[in-house]
Amino acid sequence: MFHKLIYTAGVKRRNPSLMRYFDFLMKSDKWSIGQLHDYQFGKCKDLLEFAQKYSPFYKEHFEKCGFEPSKMESLDELKKIPPIDKQVLLSRNKDIQSSFKFDKLFFSETSGTSGQVLKFYRNEEWDSCNRAAMFRGYKWYGVNPWERNGYFWGYNIDKKQRLKTAILDELQNRFRIFSYDEDHIRRFAEKLRKAAYVGGYSSMIYEVAKIVNRLEINNDFHLKMVKGTSEKIYDSYQNEVKKAFGQKMISEYGSAESGLIAFECPEGGHMHINMENVIVEEENGEIIVTNLLSRSFPIIRYKLGDFVRLASSDFKCSCGRAHPVILDVLGRVGKNVLGKKSIYPSLTFYYVFKNLALSGITLNYQAVQNERGKVVLKIEQNVPEHSEALNAELDKYFHGDIDFEVKWGEKLHAMNGKLKDFITTLDSQ
Ligand SMILES: [Zn+2]
Repeated sequence: MFHKLIYTAGVKRRNPSLMRYFDFLMKSDKWSIGQLHDYQFGKCKDLLEFAQKYSPFYKEHFEKCGFEPSKMESLDELKKIPPIDKQVLLSRNKDIQSSFKFDKLFFSETSGTSGQVLKFYRNEEWDSCNRAAMFRGYKWYGVNPWERNGYFWGYNIDKKQRLKTAILDELQNRFRIFSYDEDHIRRFAEKLRKAAYVGGYSSMIYEVAKIVNRLEINNDFHLKMVKGTSEKIYDSYQNEVKKAFGQKMISEYGSAESGLIAFECPEGGHMHINMENVIVEEENGEIIVTNLLSRSFPIIRYKLGDFVRLASSDFKCSCGRAHPVILDVLGRVGKNVLGKKSIYPSLTFYYVFKNLALSGITLNYQAVQNERGKVVLKIEQNVPEHSEALNAELDKYFHGDIDFEVKWGEKLHAMNGKLKDFITTLDSQ
């Protein structure tokens, strides 16, 4: 009760429109696909007209392709606008930022894999709607946002930031873990016994799950939700996670600039698109997102850089929601593996290991390339007896063009950042 009061007071101050949006989203959760599309069209047209008026970049961008938002009659016309990517958000940053005077803005800073930091401002509505969508996802699991929760996202916090982080954690009834140190994990587990949910990087949740299981730490938990974010959740994680935390890990998909894109359904096991806030398109396997709330820094037809697989439009989830489904996030776009003769998308590894998984061999891996034609393949499981099956799959895709050095029984994650499935130091991307 105490935490609910603190929480509600905090929300009223920081995000005045959040509760209103949350109530709306609980209603639209039951809408038909027609209602959702009508709503998206209205929001989209408003955003495009706003961007044309207040964002110098989009004014120019629309002019160049002959797009006139006020004449828009259907969502299909969105395809006339050429997509943009992270590089555009970085290089045209100031021109994209809208000149409209908002009452309240939140500063946002994200560092990408390329190392460049993207900075932008989010208007209050953007921030609030995004949180509201996340809380709707929580509600599907019977979780209220003010309930006690553990957080696996500790690293890279400098001393100056620590106090601020501690205060924010307290307000959100949250405690976090900073390392894989056994004592820290024991203390974290102690607190977790009184928590309703836990969330964070999926590879960290998996690492901690393994330690909880190995040390047979008292896991009398009563968690309603174990939420993985920011990274792919491998099927092979689930056994350890279920054993340690009593729940499978569910996924939340999104990014700072796109907002929450999709949240996993408790019934279907796949993610429903957060249609009220984002428009998702797919071209050549790549996801393109329009963030319908992003007035202060419009995100329109943005190539997020992930390969995804969408369910077909006649797909029906057993939960009854009409919101379309993302079946899988396959991996990052853009990195290439360099063979002696040819170049291969790093996504190829996804298929190699997916095929192995389908034949009953689940392996967690990380591929590292420092030299053309050579790749070190680190595998977490120590099962060299599967070498033959692995080599056969590698041959199928790389045709002997790359020499693989396979290392079995490797540690893949060290809590120093996101777990990447492919790391390259070669410059020819
Ligand atoms: Zn569903």
